[in-house]
Amino acid sequence: FEQPSGNISMPISSRWTAEVPNCSLQKWIFGSDSGLLPPRKTFVDADDPSRFLTHSDYRLFAKRFAVGLQRAGLQSGDRVLLFSGNNIFFPSVFIGVIMAGGVFTGANPSFVARELAHQLKDSGAKFMLTAEKSLQTALEAAELVGLPKNRVLVFTDEAFERELAESRKKKYGEGVRHWTDLIADKNDGISFSWVEPSDSGTTTCCLNYSSGTTGVPKGVEISHRSYVANGVGVVHLASMQNDWEEYLQKRARGLCFLPMYHAYAQTYFVANFAKMGIPTYVMKAFDFEAMLKHVQEYKITVLTCVPPIVVALAKHPLAKRYDLSSVETLGSGAAPLGREVAQEVERLWNTVHHTGGRSKKKDGQPLAVRQGWGMTEVTCSCMAWDPSHPVGTTAAVGELLPNCSGKLVDTSSDDPTTFKDITEPNKPGELWVTGPTLMRGYWRNEKATKESILVDNDGTRWFRTGDVAYVEGEYGPGALFHIVDRIKELIKVKGNQVAPAELEALLLERPDVIDVAVVGVTIGGEEVPRAYVVPAKQPESGDEKERVAKEISEWMAAKTARFKWLRGGVDFIDAIPKNPSGKILRRHLREKANKEVDGK
Ligand code: AMP
Repeated sequence: FEQPSGNISMPISSRWTAEVPNCSLQKWIFGSDSGLLPPRKTFVDADDPSRFLTHSDYRLFAKRFAVGLQRAGLQSGDRVLLFSGNNIFFPSVFIGVIMAGGVFTGANPSFVARELAHQLKDSGAKFMLTAEKSLQTALEAAELVGLPKNRVLVFTDEAFERELAESRKKKYGEGVRHWTDLIADKNDGISFSWVEPSDSGTTTCCLNYSSGTTGVPKGVEISHRSYVANGVGVVHLASMQNDWEEYLQKRARGLCFLPMYHAYAQTYFVANFAKMGIPTYVMKAFDFEAMLKHVQEYKITVLTCVPPIVVALAKHPLAKRYDLSSVETLGSGAAPLGREVAQEVERLWNTVHHTGGRSKKKDGQPLAVRQGWGMTEVTCSCMAWDPSHPVGTTAAVGELLPNCSGKLVDTSSDDPTTFKDITEPNKPGELWVTGPTLMRGYWRNEKATKESILVDNDGTRWFRTGDVAYVEGEYGPGALFHIVDRIKELIKVKGNQVAPAELEALLLERPDVIDVAVVGVTIGGEEVPRAYVVPAKQPESGDEKERVAKEISEWMAAKTARFKWLRGGVDFIDAIPKNPSGKILRRHLREKANKEVDGK
């Protein structure tokens, strides 16, 4: 795209650069392929801590699985889909796939068959691993896309107890196998060496699905280099904590309740915590009270949250009943978090939970809720806090991670030749970012890639985030960013992505729906989807309206994962407001929706 003349581009660069080695993600996590690894626990089952994987176990299971995949016919670049909640072997599957030269893709475990089939088909996965309880959904999806049954493998955390898994197989039905069938013998794993990619920046290792600024979910192609760059940046910032060595050796413990199929938990736990040697206690699914119990029991020091969990910590009476004083770092990302809520949580720690780890820390800083900002398209985190920088009362999402740059652009006209960089503080614009963590592009979707990544005159690839931000204080390195709005279609429900385009396409399958728009609306502090429908025949009475709206909601619920349900309601409208080129005026509808549900 042509940089308009007279518009001087002045991006903000991170205060730090950090060297990103040209190596695979597995090499970055485990070091060289030989030699002994420290016998520390890397992944511990939070429900049963006697079940854990050391760093060596993590690597060895990954290698054994890689051997099995290759023997089963996996070729370099083939995709493997994992459809499961968390367990301690999830990371070994991820790394095993990429050690075998494959590409990992994780699906939301709450998907229905239609949603799973979209990802299976789009990624062209050659194998699918599925949680036992999701086997029927997985088989339905496999049938929809023609994936043979013998490529469907049941994934449980019984890899230690193969015989147990063996006895279960009967009930899976003809053809379906257990994933342990693909775990090669220990010795085969020990002698296996993965092939290092010659260029880690052009070798894709993962497809994380995201709808981006528009349309349906797409595969975000992340290279080994991008994962490594993300890790290098996160570790760089974390290690600026002033008692870092002591913290790592004596106290650090993470708790993973976020789903590992999503970039957030994937980068933090599967890669970065493992690299730093921080043990992760793995929860199979999120449960608020279980989370509190585990924090108390395992003396968790770092909580990686999404806003609804921070809200629960602020409001739920149970948060006062458990001893949470071991927590030293509390991060939140994936969706906006109000400063008032963050302050309530900080008060809770400063009044109820202040007796533990934090007070023993050398810097003596009270606990602060540190927000971060990121996107699947930039591997994950892109903005975070230097731990020595006090958060104070700001609602900022931190500053740019090492090696990343960002800028704010006035994109109010749709014409790129008139876009103008904003170079002053406190003035909002669309956030554009770049750096080594930027995706290679959308999988097999050049059009969407071109629309979202613009190459400027210097050859820099800028990613249009669809988020509106401003900078606090000085415009320049070290500036703190605030995220204030979203101009893209995306709706975020408890941190999960909901793509309006997907729900709209589904609704249009109904003969009684002529046109439709789905937007996010905030109810009780949470964003949920609301549909505006142009019906073939307008309902004649209030009762009929209610009945048809309910019928549509229920019809949708049967076709989508729970987090996509139309909990913001269904309303009828004469025409969907659109601009002259036919684009839905979503901001207008969002404002209307928020007025209509106000006070509910
Ligand atoms: P995902 O790719 O699923 O991680 O979603 C990325 C999107 O989540 C961003 O583009 C934002 O719209 C939103 N998001 C992430 N972190 C924040 C944050 N701290 N504040 C506001 N929105 C956020």
